[in-house]
Amino acid sequence: RGQRAKCLAILEEFRTACATPVSRLRQIVDALVVEMHAGLASDGGSRLKMLPSFVDVLPNGDEKGLYYALDLGGTNFRVLRVQLGGKEGRVIKQEYEEVSIPHRLMAASGQELFEYIAKELASFVNREGEGFRPHGNQKRELGFTFSFPVNQTAINSGTLVQWTKGFTCDGVPGKNVVQFLEEAMAKVGLQMKVTALVNDTVGTLAGGRYWNEDVMVAIILGTGTNACYVERADAINKWNGLLPRSNSMVINTEWGNFWSSHLPKTYADEGLDADSVNPGEQGFEKLISGMYMGDIVRRVLLKMAQEADIFGKPIAPKLMQPYTLSTPHMSKMHGDETHDLRNVAKVLKDAFNISGTSLTVRKIVYMVCEVVCERGGRLAAAGVVGILKKIGRDGTGAGAGGQPLSRSSSAKNVSSRPRRTVVAMDGGLYEHYGKFREYLQQATTELLGEEVAKNVLIELSKDGSGIGAALLAASHSPSQ
Ligand code: ADP
Ligand code: MG
Repeated sequence: RGQRAKCLAILEEFRTACATPVSRLRQIVDALVVEMHAGLASDGGSRLKMLPSFVDVLPNGDEKGLYYALDLGGTNFRVLRVQLGGKEGRVIKQEYEEVSIPHRLMAASGQELFEYIAKELASFVNREGEGFRPHGNQKRELGFTFSFPVNQTAINSGTLVQWTKGFTCDGVPGKNVVQFLEEAMAKVGLQMKVTALVNDTVGTLAGGRYWNEDVMVAIILGTGTNACYVERADAINKWNGLLPRSNSMVINTEWGNFWSSHLPKTYADEGLDADSVNPGEQGFEKLISGMYMGDIVRRVLLKMAQEADIFGKPIAPKLMQPYTLSTPHMSKMHGDETHDLRNVAKVLKDAFNISGTSLTVRKIVYMVCEVVCERGGRLAAAGVVGILKKIGRDGTGAGAGGQPLSRSSSAKNVSSRPRRTVVAMDGGLYEHYGKFREYLQQATTELLGEEVAKNVLIELSKDGSGIGAALLAASHSPSQ
């Protein structure tokens, strides 16, 4: 039928616009490296902020005592306590809770948001049980993972550059977020000291490094996306402070805001950006992260409904409404292995209240998910390889990056085995969307070549950011 042909034409046109052949990925890798250099050279030198984290030592296992962490992501926040026992004991005991962020708080005032968080944290602290021992009558210490771009002014303070991931809380941009948290804690009567303010990527890097010294890069693929890595401090031209003794510094790239003309952009991406709370910002994030991919699929389906009547008339109101199709919905459809694609049918019903679709239609919906997922996974791989290239771990040259960055930097690594590089990954998208993970891994291997790829391991570091913040609180604590 004509309608079906029109749908297929829309699908093919979209697929072509989303194409990510390896040649294009290489251009993106190179563009990312150029932007990384520019961002390190001067403030405002690039869309990539390349923020120095003030983390110049990473945990090495010697950390001891009770530490708390608070992780404010995009969808949830998590509280955690951990009793660290040094090299021998390692993580003696750990407890963890997750609280979803009530939607209205994303647009509430800064005070309201932080007071809500402080209250939840206080109630968690009140439930501290057996096996956790604070040192003497010192205040408990907290590592605060804050997954938004921050201009760090010290290891335990920094100002919010701007909200991302749909947050718009008044009064916070330009202000010290630790002060917001400390004022809220004081208000709810919680005695606690913030000893480290870290980005979630930096927390993930620290958490990964605690167990594996080959971890050089950490990436988040969750609601949003970001990456950090270990840079040589003397390569950060915009750094005015003293060079740290380790001559290393973790850089928070804020790669969500990366853009290059080589990135494939379609009408669906343009519409999504225009309707977002931050048009023109976070372009890379809008192509590859969990907050947005489902809505890209929805926009393509809407075009098929409008121009080719794919679901019949009238058009379902929910199909016209942004964010009714989440990325978990998308991955459920894309993971559908039933012969009649009944999970696709179920999601169409749940998300849009559309029923009675034919198998042909469901196949088309499935293919739209496939195209968006493949593009996202492959673009994320270009990001991974860009960072590896910047630190000389992509096999193309003798880069000097990737310092050991431990407090006891000893002369080692003289063995002849090739250097291993571990990329610590975290985030619900990477964790739960198997096909996205596969596209990411496959394109990484294509870009690096089989040989180099054998020594680059992409590993899930689940909730590394929470424990990593606690570890950084410990390694930067005055009481260590
Ligand atoms: P945050 O990024 O807010 O810290 P997470 O790392 O837990 O939180 O990521 C949550 C995000 O991961 C969700 O917003 C969603 O986009 C994505 N996600 C969660 N589960 C799935 C899934 N099954 N398939 C695809 N994406 C998922
Ligand atoms: Mg997170």
